[in-house]
Amino acid sequence: MQPRFLIIGAGITGAVLAHRLARDGASVTVVEAVAPTSGASGRSFGWVNASFFLTEAHFHLRLAAMAAHRSLGEELSRPYQPEGCIWFEETGEAFDRRHAALAALDYPLRLLDRAAIAALEPRMADPPPRALFFPLEAAQDLVGLAQAALASASSHGAHMICGLAVEGLVANDGRITGIRTAAGEISADHVVLCTGTGTPALLAPLGLQLPMLRRPGALLVTRPLPPLLHHILATPDQEVRQDPEGRLVAPASAHHQGDAAEGLPPPQEMEQATLMRLRHLFPNAFIRPDRLLMAERPVPGDGLPVIGAVLPGLSMAVMHSGATLAPLVADLLALEMGGQGDQPLLAPFRPARFFAGIETAPA
Ligand SMILES: Cc1cc2nc3c(=O)[nH]c(=O)nc-3n(C[C@H](O)[C@H](O)[C@H](O)COP(=O)(O)OP(=O)(O)OC[C@H]3O[C@@H](n4cnc5c(N)ncnc54)[C@H](O)[C@@H]3O)c2cc1C
Repeated sequence: MQPRFLIIGAGITGAVLAHRLARDGASVTVVEAVAPTSGASGRSFGWVNASFFLTEAHFHLRLAAMAAHRSLGEELSRPYQPEGCIWFEETGEAFDRRHAALAALDYPLRLLDRAAIAALEPRMADPPPRALFFPLEAAQDLVGLAQAALASASSHGAHMICGLAVEGLVANDGRITGIRTAAGEISADHVVLCTGTGTPALLAPLGLQLPMLRRPGALLVTRPLPPLLHHILATPDQEVRQDPEGRLVAPASAHHQGDAAEGLPPPQEMEQATLMRLRHLFPNAFIRPDRLLMAERPVPGDGLPVIGAVLPGLSMAVMHSGATLAPLVADLLALEMGGQGDQPLLAPFRPARFFAGIETAPA
């Protein structure tokens, strides 16, 4: 008989994992406290990239994840179409170091001069003297992608329960055998936590303390504009892209991926400051705000993803840069939970690094 999987959390990670497991014939139920993509996934900049990384293993995971977006796009009939990123977030020696590091890793890139930047983005004011172009990077609409993944999961028999918070995990003789909710217990052969910032609260009663960094993020979305910007743009003080509806989507903090701020300024202040930067970049556009979205980013204590088996019957996948990583992580975790052996790309990102003394084990 196929094992029964309970996936907790319907952000991009839980949604893609549900698709993967259900497609391969597993029995899958997804339990979500609020609604699909109501967490970080519904408020993400969605930049799929490997140009930002913390360690070499992190780079290789991100690079493989970019390829996984392509195959997921084919499976879900949502072609992955990289528009590329024009990057000059760092300048001077920091720019040179990033260029050298990425070139040494054979990351696809091109060095652009001012004229080439102006040709790619003619409406941007004051193009810088140089930038890196990353042709394989893309922006993903995580809400649409998660919806498509959940629809596919459901077409393969997966069940979805929304508006039901998991209050605890049921343990029997060291094995997780289900979940506790206000509506009663639900049993399973394997529970997978895709719960983002909600994860520490579920692990703590088991004596497992998962440290998370406090990393609130905010995103300004403008009203639709005529075509203005063709690529993802990463400048020293603003990242921005234009979505298919013509809206500019812009994190309210520069360098948002590596941003270490634990608090945010008041919303109105963030909105005004971001608008000012956007208007400076595109002085001829009539840029008006539509909404400011805020979410806690799920950043584990060392900044790196936490993926894999925790206890018998329990696995987890919690990560920042989940817009980039989710399709690959879902693939690899599904293989591991299906008994296909440890996946080497995941080795540096195991939960055990935080849970000293606890022997983690596969299903
Ligand atoms: C402003 C911002 C910008 C970002 N930009 C990028 C980017 O450019 N590139 C990139 O790669 N990443 C980016 N990220 C990070 C990325 O969006 C996240 O890593 C990713 O969305 C995490 O997805 P997830 O499914 O793991 O978690 P989430 O989307 O947070 O989903 C977790 C789900 O679990 C549910 N849940 C939690 N606890 C329980 C419970 N007890 N019971 C039931 N359900 C529960 C929640 O309701 C939620 O729906 C950004 C994030 C933010 C906020």
